[in-house]
Amino acid sequence: MPSIGHIAVGAAAGRALSRRQGSRAAAVTLFSAVSLLPDLDGIAFPLGIPYAAPFGHRGASHSLAAAAAAGLLCGAAGKAAGLPFSRAALAGAAVTASHGLLDTLTDGGLGVALLWPFSNRRFFAPWRPIPVAPIGFAMLSARGAFVVAAEAAMFLPFFLYAFWPRRRGGGPSR
Ligand SMILES: [Zn+2]
Repeated sequence: MPSIGHIAVGAAAGRALSRRQGSRAAAVTLFSAVSLLPDLDGIAFPLGIPYAAPFGHRGASHSLAAAAAAGLLCGAAGKAAGLPFSRAALAGAAVTASHGLLDTLTDGGLGVALLWPFSNRRFFAPWRPIPVAPIGFAMLSARGAFVVAAEAAMFLPFFLYAFWPRRRGGGPSR
């Protein structure tokens, strides 16, 4: 799927994590970026790695194992930024895992190798309401615009939660 839904989930997690301490802007930005990490595997296409290969698109980087590894990295980064290790690690793992799980809800492409390295089976959810995004420059098309609009609508609640100003008007939204 294009990045909108993933970013929405990452941004909402960043807000939740920074509710009690830390900078909201930094946390929202960081976890939005974390939500996109699995799609770095898009590099597989120019490298000639087949879509269905373990390291092809939606392969290893979209697995729950990769999400656990990303969680550990987020924990370490969060700790360096003054957040509790466990909360930052949990948020990082959840956001990264949500990427693979959300991709199983899309109506095209191949499924997601959630269980890599134990299995290369590609999974789809039984219900797939999210329109799949065209890949690369094909995104700059009417179909691409439709997919972005549909996703922005579906994930609006996450964006509202992430960016809604804090109550009581007390201070800037940090
Ligand atoms: Zn993906």
